[in-house]
Amino acid sequence: MQTTGLHKLIELINLTESTYILRIEKKDMQFEAGQHILLGKADDNDQREYSIYSGTNDEYLEVLIKEVVDGSVSIHLKNLNPGDLLKVEGPLGFFGLSKDKIESGKFLFIASGTGIAPFHSMVKSNPNLNYKILHGIRTCNEDYGKEDYNSDRYIRCTSRENGCDFEGRVTDYIRQNDFDNDTICYFCGNFKMIKEAMDLLENKGIPGSQLHAEVYF
Ligand SMILES: Cc1cc2nc3c(=O)[nH]c(=O)nc-3n(C[C@H](O)[C@H](O)[C@H](O)COP(=O)(O)OP(=O)(O)OC[C@H]3O[C@@H](n4cnc5c(N)ncnc54)[C@H](O)[C@@H]3O)c2cc1C
Repeated sequence: MQTTGLHKLIELINLTESTYILRIEKKDMQFEAGQHILLGKADDNDQREYSIYSGTNDEYLEVLIKEVVDGSVSIHLKNLNPGDLLKVEGPLGFFGLSKDKIESGKFLFIASGTGIAPFHSMVKSNPNLNYKILHGIRTCNEDYGKEDYNSDRYIRCTSRENGCDFEGRVTDYIRQNDFDNDTICYFCGNFKMIKEAMDLLENKGIPGSQLHAEVYF
């Protein structure tokens, strides 16, 4: 059920200079992994969508936010202190795993930057999930939440630093690798990455009905 209300900030966790996690009171919000919320400061009318990063069974809600230079909301949320109130609306959206596929499906999650957030929630909420994540990031330290993934299921594709997993963009990884045609693919983040990655996987024989996307910008 969708709710609108004021939720207290429990903790702000800085992951890099520009990316942070907000841990927020959950109250009685129930959601499906992959959904998002609308979030803003209590005294501000501006709200933005943020995917829920925490698992469905966690006692708090978390979102993973990248501060956008010249942005209006992401910069201000970073200045909050524990105890401050946030306006939270949700859960919203339909970007989730089909219930009948969770047990048996083979999932490929493709994210750019903070687009990893819904996949973090899906993995945390479903401990037996058969998944592989391709995470498009610039540098190795943008591997947000790496410790929460099985190391052979999480591949960092770095465009500006060598020496973590794969040197290049997620699209380069897709070009150079094969994927079973029954793989169910989820994409999240930047539109250009999503469009290119979807086209590549379709050309490799994965049916369009198995491709699901959430565009951030
Ligand atoms: C369904 C959905 C879920 C989302 N989930 C997340 C999430 O989990 N984490 C997250 O950080 N963002 C997420 N976003 C993006 C978020 O809603 C905001 O757009 C973002 O935080 C910028 O808001 P702002 O007010 O700071 O900047 P604005 O003033 O709204 O925008 C400034 C400019 O920044 C661009 N922009 C937006 N996001 C980025 C980005 N990450 N990198 C570079 N440029 C960007 C916008 O297109 C715009 O041109 C999501 C968007 C959608 C639609």
